Amino acid sequence: MKNIVLLGPPGVGKGTQSKMLSERFGIPQISTGDILRKAVSDKTEMGKKAKVFMERGELVPDEVVIGIIDDRIKNDDCKKGFILDGFPRNVNQAEELDKILKKKGFPLNIVLSIDASENEVIRRLGGRRSCKECGEVFHIFFRQPKNAGICDKCGGELYQRKDDKEETIRGRLEVYNRETNPLIDYYKKMGKLRSVSGKGEIKEIFSSLCKLVEEGC
Ligand code: AMP
Repeated sequence: MKNIVLLGPPGVGKGTQSKMLSERFGIPQISTGDILRKAVSDKTEMGKKAKVFMERGELVPDEVVIGIIDDRIKNDDCKKGFILDGFPRNVNQAEELDKILKKKGFPLNIVLSIDASENEVIRRLGGRRSCKECGEVFHIFFRQPKNAGICDKCGGELYQRKDDKEETIRGRLEVYNRETNPLIDYYKKMGKLRSVSGKGEIKEIFSSLCKLVEEGC
């Protein structure tokens, strides 16, 4: 099995890299952010609960996201493994994940961390544009669509997520530093953590991550 956690500050490219890793290794990418955004747009009970927290850049309550993960990794497509993108986000979630995996008899093979400075994160998140229809992510500097404002994949309209706006970005970074950064030590102590710099080209970062997965799983 290849059971992988991908860590890193918001905007570092976790979504892009985990989608590429998912294709490369034939295991699903599980993004709690994507699942929650879908619930918000479908106006489900969970979506209604999550919306306020997400728009403020705060973490959705632990029991909601833990429930999502517990449910999702039961699916057959997780038999060969999975990539968790955006979960866990704090130590309590990490401890709950350990319990869920233990109960299922699954190992956690490797925790990949993509590192980036705070300034870099602000530059990246501020330029991010997402497709209203399919969620594909573009960037005004790093990944421009062929036609401005239009998704290459499905022709949908591109927009700036409310939580990618400047004032929310600062809040998200504070949340990251306070809640998520302690996971680096948590997984270092477990001997699971492997880090790469988020500075280079998407392809370079991807090839470093693949190497680590091949060595570590
Ligand atoms: P993301 O797309 O991973 O940046 O997630 C977008 C938003 O969804 C976050 O700012 C949180 O409000 C919420 N979210 C995603 N994953 C989690 C999680 N594991 N725990 C709590 N909230 C989450």
